[in-house]
Amino acid sequence: MSRRSFLKILGIGGLAGFAKSAFGFPTATDKAPNFDNKGKAIVISTWNHGLAANKEAWTILKDGGKALDAVEKGVRDSESDPENTTVGLGGTPDRDGNVTLDACIMDENGRAGSVAFLQHIENPISVARMVMDKTPHVMLVGDGALRFALENGFKKTNLLTEASKKRWEEWKKTAKYETPINIENHDTIGMLAIDKDGNISGACTTSGLGYKMHGRVGDSPIIGAGLYVDNEVGGAVATGLGELVMRTCGSFLVVENMRRGMSPEKACKAAVERIIAKHKSVEDMQVGFLALRKDGKYGGYSIHDGFDYALTYEGYHGMTKTAFMVK
Ligand code: ASP
Repeated sequence: MSRRSFLKILGIGGLAGFAKSAFGFPTATDKAPNFDNKGKAIVISTWNHGLAANKEAWTILKDGGKALDAVEKGVRDSESDPENTTVGLGGTPDRDGNVTLDACIMDENGRAGSVAFLQHIENPISVARMVMDKTPHVMLVGDGALRFALENGFKKTNLLTEASKKRWEEWKKTAKYETPINIENHDTIGMLAIDKDGNISGACTTSGLGYKMHGRVGDSPIIGAGLYVDNEVGGAVATGLGELVMRTCGSFLVVENMRRGMSPEKACKAAVERIIAKHKSVEDMQVGFLALRKDGKYGGYSIHDGFDYALTYEGYHGMTKTAFMVK
């Protein structure tokens, strides 16, 4: 099910940010796990595909496993889901019909791994982790990333499913090779988790903007743009139009805002304000940030209404909605 139809079914697409959901979902203000983080785990991730991903991550967190392993396992679930048209297998191709993937991961020790413009590999997040664990580098791209993956036991897979091929062929009839930039055609999964030891890690993975130019890379594999983690402060992830996030080093900015004392939600809001201030118009462009602070407090903010995220901690598993800037 697409995020759009999910929102439609739930009827929450038009709710004002911060309004308490009629479905009993806690919002960032009324039920935040305002706990002393020690010994308690929490995971948050973007969009409603985050629910299934959080569930996977929780299988590790609940037994005291590491946040790093949890975020990798969690987002792999979205990558391997052929119904999910914005990540991994079944991801929307570029305008020439190639599925090209971007992903990155960052851990509590400030280590980072990333792949961009990677084709034919179902789980780019695990390749990113291997870049982090096994090489002296942070980022591999394109053919080099593919070669590294194949040399390390990853299998070549056709990522263009029949359904996504059909949609691409339909798109080609009218799209005139213009990359559409709107609120609905991008849905990265970004995930942040704190484990029982109080350590934070994050992961971010996407097929990027639907029908992008061949070779286009967005914010998602860029450390500091799509994802940033600092174990002294917390972490942030971004989703939406990557160009806006890259120009403002979005996730890094959110973490630095928290370092200066802002709450997670205020930190995300200030980053959204920066994007709006630096661009002439963001009328048809969505960006959403999520932040998780070391003390377990979380929050999010988006340019437009409609950005929701999955939240899981002991005793709670459900969707939450961010506040937003533009009505
Ligand atoms: N941020 C991603 C990109 O621009 C898209 C998304 O969030 O789905 O590639």
